[in-house]
Parts: sequence; structure tokens; C-alpha cells
Amino acid sequence: MEIENIVANTVYIKARESGGQKKGKSKKWKNYLQFPHYIDCLYLRGQIECNYGYIVERQPIGKLLFQEFCQSTEQYRLSCLFINKVEEYETSDDDGEIRRNLAKTIATMLSTTGEVPSSSTEEPWWSFLPSEAVQSVLSAADSATHDQTPGSEIFAEACKLVRVFLSEAPFKEFIDSVYFRRFLQWKWLEKRPVDKHTFRLYRVLGKGGFGEVCACQVRSSGKMYALKKLEKKRVKKRHAETLSLNEKQILQRINSPFVVSLAYAYETKDALCLVLTLMNGGDLKFHLYNIMPGGFEEKRVQFYAAEITLGLQHLHRERILYRDLKPENILLDDFGHVRISDLGLAVELRDNEPIKGRVGTVGYMAPEIIKNERYSYGVDWWGVGCLIYEMIEGKAPFRQRKEKVKREEVERRVKEDQEKYSDKFSEAARTLCRGLLHKEPSFRLGCRRVGKPEDGAEEMKVHPFFTQGDADRGREPVPWKKMEAGKLTPPFCPDPRAVYAKDVLDIEQFSTVKGVRLDASDTQFYGKFNTGSVSIPWQNEMIETECYTELNEIYVNGELAFNLRD
Ligand code: ADP
Ligand code: MG
Ligand code: MG
Repeated sequence: MEIENIVANTVYIKARESGGQKKGKSKKWKNYLQFPHYIDCLYLRGQIECNYGYIVERQPIGKLLFQEFCQSTEQYRLSCLFINKVEEYETSDDDGEIRRNLAKTIATMLSTTGEVPSSSTEEPWWSFLPSEAVQSVLSAADSATHDQTPGSEIFAEACKLVRVFLSEAPFKEFIDSVYFRRFLQWKWLEKRPVDKHTFRLYRVLGKGGFGEVCACQVRSSGKMYALKKLEKKRVKKRHAETLSLNEKQILQRINSPFVVSLAYAYETKDALCLVLTLMNGGDLKFHLYNIMPGGFEEKRVQFYAAEITLGLQHLHRERILYRDLKPENILLDDFGHVRISDLGLAVELRDNEPIKGRVGTVGYMAPEIIKNERYSYGVDWWGVGCLIYEMIEGKAPFRQRKEKVKREEVERRVKEDQEKYSDKFSEAARTLCRGLLHKEPSFRLGCRRVGKPEDGAEEMKVHPFFTQGDADRGREPVPWKKMEAGKLTPPFCPDPRAVYAKDVLDIEQFSTVKGVRLDASDTQFYGKFNTGSVSIPWQNEMIETECYTELNEIYVNGELAFNLRD
């Protein structure tokens, strides 16, 4: 290994290890995150949706501040606790034990004889709940404590009513409190412009079509990200302005643990920059061909296929068609969870109308795309079929690896040939792939339910490959709720000291772009791109890296009202 690569890797691994901890923060980090006086933030009230649904349910910092606010009133405090317990119940282990205990705790919160003391008033905290709602919680909890596997949504109705309660008087009081002022101060920091000084840069991780992807670290918080550059001249030369803006706009709308998120978008003199979730574990292509040639075991395939299904479900729910499923676009994180990345070909289906357009990668495009017909969400289920097939077999269904074959021949195979199944496939894996690789979209698995775009994923989730165990293959049923909550341990964990990318010197350099001049007409497009922090990831970054707790002292009349460090 070249010395240059060793140095680049060492610096990068060191930054990664410090990422998120104090060590990763700049010495001057508190200067970067100084709150302005709240008076100077009040104008932001007019720029945000000032309602419970947005501030408490969709803003991570808003949620924490609201819960902090609720601590001082017993009724509000217990209402929050109830919601948290129900959330914990709904995402807890499917095996029963923990869940039965949680059901018991929840019931205790609503019983007059319970251990939870109600406040000094005679009314219990839940007095706003109609008595039928209380009764149904108590009886549901009672049967849940006896059930082997209690259902997950038995408290949903009561929980909704508690939310309605909190969204009324308590939320109004919150808006008038110091906690909301602090929220606006955080919002002010969030909306500040972002430029190259916000980050430290590390080694190159890969090469994209318009520029390099490298690792980077936010100076103030120490959080690590991947920085994908789109060089301005290259974008202009290939008339890819709309495409680039499209990728950025779709990415910023998506907030799923199974799709790479966008945390910042900004520009430098030469490039447009997308700051994305850092995926340290490499892509599935690298694992499939450099580390595990011959395919993964079914347990691992099932895990990846399930997480990808959840990622697609999220995209489809947002009416977004992904169109580029293939192993190199699925990336692993530090723990071995996977995310869908590279949304360069994603497109929104307005009004769910099918679209046309021959895009994708040869060998992974569905037959209806090749035939230039109109298509819809089914093309992504075809893509999942190709991917699962490739993960099991160790080669793609319609093309040998490195096979010298014309595009027309691959396309003919996709349209006409029946893919072959070796004995690497279990019965369930084979029927799954056969279902997904059905040439006729209306008969394809994932497309047979007419309803909402996200129903395709539900059809997947109940296939025996996911619902039935197979002792011979080490497969167990997928606990979907637990997986969605990120509580499953992946079957394979990447080595934290390894760099799953080519050596820096092996990543080809870009040639210089000639014959393009940037002018005023380009500036308008850059302005649309350069929107700075993306709200939810930015707030999560502040929380995860403890900038939030460190900075969150709140003073009321000169006295410290709360300090999250205590
Ligand atoms: P393009 O759209 O130009 O193909 P990609 O988004 O696919 O660009 O990125 C190019 C390469 O950079 C990927 O193949 C991968 O090696 C690396 N890469 C991209 N995104 C990330 C990320 N979030 N974390 C780590 N590496 C990444
Ligand atoms: Mg790519
Ligand atoms: Mg792309």
C-alpha cells in the first residue's frame, strides 16, 4: 500500500473514531453555535408552521424542548410519559415478555388505584379521556398481560387522544414559554448559511459521475458525513442542472433510516455539494465480489432485502420511484445496516400516473422500461428481484460478471429468458425471486394489490421468505416492527478499523472540463441548490453529538430553569 494511502486512511479512521464525541469538535465549537438574543429570532415564527404536529412531532429539538416544558406540570408530564411508554410498547420485542410488562405499566398509569400518584387535585391526570377510552385501555392491557404475543396497536386510540390533549392548552402555553424561545434560537442556528468552512475534509471514498465523494466532519459538532461533489462545469457541460436539483430536492424530503439522508446542501466556487449520511461499510457490490464471492447466506440476504423493502416502502409512500436498484447503490453503515443511496435517477410520480423514460442500468432495468412502455412502482420490485437473486447466486440474473456481451443481448434476455435457479436458493427464496422477476408487471409480486403506492411493500413483507423460518438456512421470521425501529442486530458487522473503499490512488482522477464558462444564468440555479442545513438531520446531529445538552441551559428571570446536563 502506498504511503499516501496509509496516511489518508489513518487520518480518516482517527476522525471517524472521534466523530460525535468531544474530541471531534473544534476547540472553538461554542463560538460557532452561539445563540442570538431571542428577540432577534422572533421573526422566524412567521417562517415555520407553529403547530403541534410540526414542532413536537416532526422536529427533534422541538420534541425535546416540549417534553422539558411538560416536566413542570404533573398532568403534562404524565401525558408525555404515557405517549413514550406506548411508543416503547409498540416497537418493543415481539417475544412477549418485555411487552407484557410494558402493557402492565401502561395500565397502571390509568388506574385510580395505581402507584402513580395523581397531582394534588382530585382529578387523575387522564381526566380528559372519555371513560370508554380508559376502559378499553384497561381491558386491552389486561388481555395483553396474559397473551403470549400481544398485539402492537392496542393503545393507539388512547395515545391519539392524549396527543390531542397535549396539542391544545399545553402546546399554547409552551408557545409562550422560554422553551419555545429557545426553539427559535436553535432554528436560527439551523438556518444560518453553510459554506466550505463548516467542514473538515478527509479522504476520497468514491467517484461519482460529476465529482468525487469524500468523508467530511462538521467542525462544530464533530459529526462525520459523506460529501458528494457535483462540479459546476461538469454539470453544465452535460446539461444536468435539472437532474442535480431533482436529486437534491428528493433527498431532502426523505427521512428514513433505510435511505441515505441529506444533511446539508451548499456551494463552493467550483462545486455543488451534497452532505450525506456517511456509510462506512462499503457497498454491496464490494462485499459481494471482493469479500464474499459466491453469494451471501440466506439469513444475510433476508436482512438486506428486508431493510431495502422498508427503504422502498418509504420512497413509494412519498410517490418516489427509485429506478436504480443494484448492489453498488446499497451501502452499509458502521453496524451493518443498509441504506439505499444515489437518488440521481429517482423521480416523483405526480398523481401516481405511470411514466415513460428509458433510464436505469443495463441488466437491472425491468422489461417494461426496455420496451419503452409506461411504467410505475413495479420497476423497483423488479430491481429488488435482481438484487436478491444476485445476493444469493453471486451473479446477476441476466448477465455473467465481466461478461463481454452487447446491450441488445442483455435486453433480449431480460425480455425473453427465464432466469435459472441453482440449489443455492431455498424454496422460499426461489418463489420470491420468481414473483419479483415476473416479466408482466401486473402479475409481479409487489404490484398485485391495487391501492396505495406503499402497498407493494406489504405484499413483500408477507412472503414466506420473510414470514417463515428455515432452520437449514438459518433464517428466522423478520420482526418487522423491531426492524423498523432499528432494534435488530445485523448479521454482519463491518470491521471498524477497515476502509471499505479503493485505495485513494486507485480512484481515478477527473479530467478538467474544457469549453464551459459559468455565467449569471447559472447563479439562479445554484441559489436553488444552496439551501444549507436540512432541518431534521441537523437537529438530530445537534442532539447526537451532545451539542444540544451542552448548550441548553435556560434562564428564567436570571435563574437557571433547566440544564440538561444535570
Ligand atoms: P453518482 O450518482 O455520480 O453515481 P454516487 O452517489 O453513486 O454518485 O457516489 C459515487 C460513489 O461514492 C459510490 O459508489 C460510493 O463508493 C461513494 N459514496 C457515495 N455516497 C456515499 C456515502 N453516503 N457514504 C460513503 N460512500 C459514498
Ligand atoms: Mg452511483
Ligand atoms: Mg447518480
